[in-house]
Amino acid sequence: MFFDDRNTFENWAETLPAYDTHDRHGCACCSALPSLLAEQFDDIEQLTQPEHWAARGQQPSKVINGLWVNAKIYTMDSAMRVVDALAIMDGKVVDCGDAADLVKAYGDTLQVIDAKGRTILPGFIEPHMHFLPIATIGGLEDVGPYRFSKTQDALTHLKSLAATLAPGEWLMGRQFDPSLQDGPDQLTITELDAVSAVNPVFIYNASLHFAYCNSAALAAASITKATPDDPASPYGRDALGVPNGVLKGGRAIGSVARHNLAQREYDLAEAALGVCGRANRKGITTFCDQATGMVRGVSEVDIYEALAKSGSMTARLRYSLSYGLAEKWDATGIRYGHGDALVRAVGWKIVSDGSNQGFSGLQREPYLYKEDAGLAYVEPDALNDMVRSRTEQGWPLVIHANGDLAIDRVLDAFEAVVEAGLVLNAPCRIEHCSILHDEQIQRIKALGLSPSFLIGHVYYWGHAMRDQVFGEAKAVLLDRTKACEDAGIRWTLHSDEPVTEMGPLRCIENAVTRSLWKEPGQHLAPWEAVSVMAGLRAMTIDAAWQCHSDHEIGSLEPGKFADFVILEQDPLTCPVDAISQIAVCQTWLSGRLVYDRGTDSVDDVSESVD
Ligand SMILES: [Zn+2]
Ligand SMILES: [Zn+2]
Repeated sequence: MFFDDRNTFENWAETLPAYDTHDRHGCACCSALPSLLAEQFDDIEQLTQPEHWAARGQQPSKVINGLWVNAKIYTMDSAMRVVDALAIMDGKVVDCGDAADLVKAYGDTLQVIDAKGRTILPGFIEPHMHFLPIATIGGLEDVGPYRFSKTQDALTHLKSLAATLAPGEWLMGRQFDPSLQDGPDQLTITELDAVSAVNPVFIYNASLHFAYCNSAALAAASITKATPDDPASPYGRDALGVPNGVLKGGRAIGSVARHNLAQREYDLAEAALGVCGRANRKGITTFCDQATGMVRGVSEVDIYEALAKSGSMTARLRYSLSYGLAEKWDATGIRYGHGDALVRAVGWKIVSDGSNQGFSGLQREPYLYKEDAGLAYVEPDALNDMVRSRTEQGWPLVIHANGDLAIDRVLDAFEAVVEAGLVLNAPCRIEHCSILHDEQIQRIKALGLSPSFLIGHVYYWGHAMRDQVFGEAKAVLLDRTKACEDAGIRWTLHSDEPVTEMGPLRCIENAVTRSLWKEPGQHLAPWEAVSVMAGLRAMTIDAAWQCHSDHEIGSLEPGKFADFVILEQDPLTCPVDAISQIAVCQTWLSGRLVYDRGTDSVDDVSESVD
């Protein structure tokens, strides 16, 4: 057991980092917590029992021993073979190749399944998301930009919901993102008292570094003008010093959120299984949690392992330990590779700076129209020590760096370790790796590092990066997938959900088109667009490799797990701006059907097999 003592508000608040009050715009990597936190977590005992999960999950479907034919199958193996038949037995791939040959070899032992000309790919791998944070806020009302482009529309919607509540019942929302929604830069009691004067209203910023509440919520938490500020996590106040409903950082957020006692009943297991199901609907069979420990401390490993044992897991989980809890993790004795093929520890996650759209990514030069150049969340000497000590212990590193100076420092740290004669536990990753100069690309190549790009930075924020954050000349250095591809560097794409929604096909389309959400027909640095095949690699075999799992997943070849997705259309032949709209027909994990769009998509194998 990794059980720890973060089950009280005070213990939890103690672990929050000092940088918690930055990043109003969009980086959840380092947010220390989505506390839906009541006074005390009552559910840790339950969450570490497999039975608790099994009671909420679906019954695992049967393993199908099948021979899929009449399909276009991109194996993503080293030869990038494209075949028309795939043989699956006991949850593993046994063969793939020419249908006539495979029918001859397996036709008597395997059930032959007609894929009706559809496309089969290895299950998609999401290499960077935040699993328990998503589950923790997943039950709250989505008031974000993908649902409401105008903040006023979100507020009107909230008002209609508030009208249905019983007295004293809380209304909680998530995903408010002033960088993408037209309207005010923050929500205060002015906006939220108009939603409800009697029911407490509480809304998370998409970054999770901020939240906003109305007067009723402040009253429920007994927060007044006389309430002292924690300097690391203050309350927003008006000119007279009266709290205005803005909650800056985890402690201020938690000090209000924990008074919603209904959150004690929140079913985290059900919400987490819902995240797995939603991933399956996008064709995802493996995802990697990048900062484990930020919600329930080191107990999260116990929670993950209970989930794996329950039999109700419908996606594999890889995870990187949050460096914010380094001492506590070290006390558990956890080692690289702890776990199994379902759930496994694969790295340490370090956050070295903030986010570019939040003006806290660490830059060589000041931001456009500003004098400051962002924030280092870790100083160079400390970063060097972290990289050296974890490398010596056999761990790979996963380092968040958005600004070009942050990336310089990450490269310096890796170079120092290599020059000292140590061998990196490859692949080590740079997360987001947003702004890259040519010489940095050469250093990444020389060190054997691998970037993972939050490609939604181009699609959703590209216009703001160009006009408000960097200016054109620097904005074109954002997410340089093609330059890395041409340099022979392996790279991947990620959603960083809750920053953007998981969606491998959307990520591929973004990398292939470099289009802008807010400016249809416009593109950011279109010369950095990659081929569809490169995008597919980034979300399959290369993501498996970045998650230290390419020996077992990421391609369809004999001996690997039968994790695959069946798509309605072929991404390589459909129009590039329609890739994100391709329907996922089915998703399979270890030869079990975990998502089925409906009986009209492919043969209903679960019924046709005895
Ligand atoms: Zn990050
Ligand atoms: Zn992240």
